[in-house]
Amino acid sequence: MNIIFLGPPGAGKGTQAKILEDTYGMVQLSTGDMLRAEVAAGSDLGRKAKAVMEAGGLVSDDMVIGIISGRIDQDDCKDGFMLDGFPRTVPQAEALDEMLDKKGFRLDHVVELRVDDEPLVRRITGRFTCGDCGEGYHDEFKKPAKDGVCDRCGGGNFKRRADDNEETVRSRLAAYHAQTAPIVGHYGKQDLVRVVDGNLPIDRVTTQLKEILG
Ligand code: AMP
Repeated sequence: MNIIFLGPPGAGKGTQAKILEDTYGMVQLSTGDMLRAEVAAGSDLGRKAKAVMEAGGLVSDDMVIGIISGRIDQDDCKDGFMLDGFPRTVPQAEALDEMLDKKGFRLDHVVELRVDDEPLVRRITGRFTCGDCGEGYHDEFKKPAKDGVCDRCGGGNFKRRADDNEETVRSRLAAYHAQTAPIVGHYGKQDLVRVVDGNLPIDRVTTQLKEILG
């Protein structure tokens, strides 16, 4: 099964994708994670993307389409994938349709996670992760049991994303409404859109998703 997670930053796309990876055997493909890895590695692509990402804008369509095309060709995508953060513009969606057609893949669902803007700012500005094992935490909603120690791996190397500050979050939300939300119409025409209430707690969102995915 191949699905797209659509929704504003902080809607829970990555969180749900990680939960579903184990249940359904689909791999999570996050263009944000791939771009952050390029920035960390200091590659040409990473150098080009860094300033745009820190300002909360979108990097060029060509850049992310190239990254995703190469990633989908890898073996682990054959059993299914979940796109998280891609496509983010209508031209990206059109390029993806063409790419999947050529590679012999098809989309099963486009899940739209709907969340109101204000809770999103609170969700994003409070989140952090364990740099050793990737476990996600939040200042208000999910603190580690022991201050400064990861519940899962015992590490203490916590990280916050450079773009998770309030000013950048507001730019990212504006980019979502202007450039990404129109994709719902694009996939609506293909009858692929399934709407999920992303305001609910994580486990209730997962339940809704499992009802859709079967
Ligand atoms: P994310 O981790 O999905 O929130 O993405 C972090 C940042 O990476 C975004 O704010 C954009 O600057 C950039 N980015 C990620 N995916 C895309 C995409 N599909 N198109 C353009 N920019 C992207």
